[in-house]
Amino acid sequence: MDLKLSSEDARFREEVRDFLSKALTAELREAGRKRTSLWQEIESAMSWQSILHAKGWAAPDWPVEHGGTDWTLPQRYIFALECAQAEAPLLIPMSLKMCGPMLIGYGTTDQKSYYLPRILSGEDIWCQGYSEPGSGSDLASLSTSAVSDGDEYIINGSKIWTSYAHHANMMFALVRTSTEGKVQQGISFLLIDMKAGGISVEPILNLEGVHEFNQVFFNDVRVPKINRVGKENEGWSVAKYLLEFERFSMSSVELRRILSKVEALAKSTRSDGGTLADEAGYCRQLVQLKIDALALETSEQRVLSSLSAGKRPGSVSSVLNVQSAETLQRADMLAVEAAAYYGLPYQPEALRVGAESPVGDESATTIMPTYLSNRMRTIAGGSSEVQRNIIAKAILQL
Ligand SMILES: Cc1cc2nc3c(=O)[nH]c(=O)nc-3n(C[C@H](O)[C@H](O)[C@H](O)COP(=O)(O)OP(=O)(O)OC[C@H]3O[C@@H](n4cnc5c(N)ncnc54)[C@H](O)[C@@H]3O)c2cc1C
Repeated sequence: MDLKLSSEDARFREEVRDFLSKALTAELREAGRKRTSLWQEIESAMSWQSILHAKGWAAPDWPVEHGGTDWTLPQRYIFALECAQAEAPLLIPMSLKMCGPMLIGYGTTDQKSYYLPRILSGEDIWCQGYSEPGSGSDLASLSTSAVSDGDEYIINGSKIWTSYAHHANMMFALVRTSTEGKVQQGISFLLIDMKAGGISVEPILNLEGVHEFNQVFFNDVRVPKINRVGKENEGWSVAKYLLEFERFSMSSVELRRILSKVEALAKSTRSDGGTLADEAGYCRQLVQLKIDALALETSEQRVLSSLSAGKRPGSVSSVLNVQSAETLQRADMLAVEAAAYYGLPYQPEALRVGAESPVGDESATTIMPTYLSNRMRTIAGGSSEVQRNIIAKAILQL
């Protein structure tokens, strides 16, 4: 979208650009440029977060009283876009985009005043303990048990696909506190210290061969009851609330990043003298993608405007989740087609900060791993099929 900026917003954009040009070191920029996954590697994510935190910009969408900003809707969008265009590292979403908003909505005063500043400063890194072996889409069937013992719960069971559990010192988790009645009614929401005795974290390598997620085992782990968010057996509402934030992200800025790479590669001359940009079929797909990216951008701004008015994203976050995941995967396909000219290099070592691209054009190096990594976009946070079920039920009332 070509924003028609008011003079105030134009000034704000200059302020953001000026800040980024000074605060983003060459190393951080390179780390951001070489990111191929939904998750930035931890070191650059956390050092970028501490720079943003010092400026007061780590969580622009949080309410001001909890350390957010009072930015207007266009200003929030400008900030996201400028960060993406400057190739800033991504921040870890489990802490700032999921746990923080959940605590703001449902946490006790003590939980908010203790955890929110630690999330902003990066002192606590959170992971998400929702999925279990056998309970992914059918999340409410989860069976990790929390048995009451005085002012503690004793936890036994296992969580799986737990992204960044090996970096996290805290986990927000769903546990079963009752087997009576409907499955959703026996779930509680706990905040668990990952250093508690009885927790072990086993790595799972993803399709790229990278260690991002894990299986986490609980063996008689003791969690104080004051670490429960919401009432006992009423954690399902908290879980769904958090998912609305998880499913909303500003993917259109990411899409712009991929599309600009695709366009540049499509315009580069092949050995036969032609370019992909000259081929009508390819161009048609590229133009359609740009139209869909604009539509996504507009939809995201609608949700962003609810957030800036202090409202929750709502079920429309499922629409955006499907729309962004599927559009990004189509963009990846076009990128792979464009990069075929470079022999589809997949050389993970070239992605290390400071390493040279083996094919001269660095953008071609990131394409294949990005394509592989983004296959998970239609699964993580609830598969596209499950999001469509939510849209049918909650929005279309079918
Ligand atoms: C990269 C990545 C990171 C993740 N990180 C985390 C994390 O940090 N924490 C966490 O808790 N979880 C995490 N997950 C897990 C994720 O939430 C689950 O993978 C997801 O909810 C799907 O569950 P499942 O893998 O058990 O698949 P299943 O539920 O077994 O689904 C298999 C297939 O069946 C389809 N299906 C299932 N039920 C229905 C239905 N009712 N209607 C139509 N189709 C259906 C699904 O769409 C899917 O195609 C992550 C997943 C990925 C891929």
